[in-house]
Amino acid sequence: MIRRLWVQLALAFALVTTLSIMATALLANTQARADFRAFLAQSQVQQFNLIPRLAEYYATHRRWDGVETVFADIRGMGPRGIGPGGPGMMRGPLELILADASGQVVYSNVSGSGSTARLNRGDMQRAMPVIVDDATVGYLVARMQRETALSIAAQRFLDQLNQTLIQAGMIAGALGLILGIVIARGLTAPLDRLAHAARRLASGDLTQRAPVAGPVEVASAAEAFNTMAASLEAAEQARRRLLADIAHELRTPLSVIQGNLRALLDDVFPLEKDEIATIYDETLLLSRLVADLRELTLAEAGQLHLNRSAVDVTAIVAQSATLFTAQAVEKQITLQTECDPDLPPALADADRVAQALNNLLSNALRYTPAGGTVRIVATCARRSVCPAPDADMICIRVIDTGPGIAPDDLPHVFDRFWRADRGRARAQGGTGLGLAIARQLVLAHGGVMGVESEPGKGACFWFTLPVAREPVTSQPLDASYSW
Ligand code: ADP
Repeated sequence: MIRRLWVQLALAFALVTTLSIMATALLANTQARADFRAFLAQSQVQQFNLIPRLAEYYATHRRWDGVETVFADIRGMGPRGIGPGGPGMMRGPLELILADASGQVVYSNVSGSGSTARLNRGDMQRAMPVIVDDATVGYLVARMQRETALSIAAQRFLDQLNQTLIQAGMIAGALGLILGIVIARGLTAPLDRLAHAARRLASGDLTQRAPVAGPVEVASAAEAFNTMAASLEAAEQARRRLLADIAHELRTPLSVIQGNLRALLDDVFPLEKDEIATIYDETLLLSRLVADLRELTLAEAGQLHLNRSAVDVTAIVAQSATLFTAQAVEKQITLQTECDPDLPPALADADRVAQALNNLLSNALRYTPAGGTVRIVATCARRSVCPAPDADMICIRVIDTGPGIAPDDLPHVFDRFWRADRGRARAQGGTGLGLAIARQLVLAHGGVMGVESEPGKGACFWFTLPVAREPVTSQPLDASYSW
């Protein structure tokens, strides 16, 4: 119980309040005693007309020598005089010190203080001036001895004061405790709710959110928790969607293989090479799908090893164009390359750049009809019309004259397994992962990939790569990387 935050806070409140009241009581008590002594000392001085007598003495003698006689006269006034057992509320001797106008002590009945001493600053402030002919000629300090016992009346007054202060302390302590409980509960209740929500989240309820309430710090912790819970929920949904997509993508080739094998076994299809080739094609698609998935997972987790160096982008473009020339000729498509003559080297992994570029080229050739054109354009980003212009970037664009992509579809082209025409794309051997992989590869290089398209007028896929500061150090080795 004592380890609970609200209990500790409430107790701390009560303790601080009680200690403050106790300190105030102690100070008030000490001050009241001192004030009593000062008051009584002054009233005794007045009672014996000490100041006028001293003034009269000075007016007569014009100096303080022999002033002891004035004090002796007063002492000689019998039992009502100044001294032990004297009158008033205080019993005990009255200390008297007389100093001249400069503060030099000329008379003192205090044992231990000689006539050579001077009044200190505190005594000067408390001293009563002796004035003759409008001029201060001396100072009289009157005080009761510190150990002087208070009279019964004064003692009763102080006891009363103490009692009142103790009662005030108890009331303030109790109020402090109540206030402490209220404030501490207000502080810890949202924390309790946050802990409760965190436990529910840990037990698997990702929809759990904490109420944003309480002091700013606690509310901001709750907000941070809610943001974390929301991203966990989104990640979990994405994971489920991915699993469902993978299951769906695997099911199609598997059921084709299964159906064809069943038909062969049941002699519905003749056991001929053509039939086996269909099944083989489906297994190829399956293994591509698995390879693509692995590649994408690695790229998304940032675990792709990039062998980065200064590479010649023109050479990569040329090699990719060569690789696809046969396919372009076969499909009667014109394949062109345009590279800036003074294109700086890019800081990149040549094989991975070729892989991304080949992917875009493969798509462009796949979707462009006979008689169309596919252009690969490599420029410095600041001079090109690249939609992400940046002085330190190289922009590579693959522009085709195919059917283009509908505006509604544009935001999805880089999503995993997304295809505008699912059946057609799969029939052409597409896994729906090519663009997602290419984009991850470019992102891993610190570049960006995007697309612009007007339906019926073709598509322009582009990506950027950072410029290398040093000269070209490596050439693309393996432009035939899978795409
Ligand atoms: P796939 O393996 O199916 O081609 P991609 O991720 O490479 O998967 O492409 C996703 C989809 O984007 C394709 O199915 C197609 O609908 C569309 N697409 C990609 N490139 C082009 C292009 N050049 N022209 C028109 N549509 C394209």
